[in-house]
Amino acid sequence: MALTPEQKEAWKKEKAEKELYWQEREKQKEQDKIDRINKIRERQMNNEVRCPVCGSTQISAGNKGFGLGKATAGGLLLGPVGLLGGLLGSKKVMVTCLNCGKQWKAGEY
Ligand SMILES: [Zn+2]
Repeated sequence: MALTPEQKEAWKKEKAEKELYWQEREKQKEQDKIDRINKIRERQMNNEVRCPVCGSTQISAGNKGFGLGKATAGGLLLGPVGLLGGLLGSKKVMVTCLNCGKQWKAGEY
């Protein structure tokens, strides 16, 4: 079955259009993925516990007899938000801002 030159052209064009379509689709998928990750990140940021006074996220949480250790002392903290979440659940936790020194009860702010 022989194609006329016009048919060949049309076929080529269609193929190129399809390829472009799939490329665009792939790009769109990538973009969606990035958007989703950004949204999750944003949500995590909003869940971050901040100092009510200075807004710093450099805070320490603990109660008597409970220390987060040297990582906290060094200001390297709250990586695992779940850890703080667990602390907050115990209610007796004081949170201290490492930046300005403000202290407040966990869950108060
Ligand atoms: Zn502060």
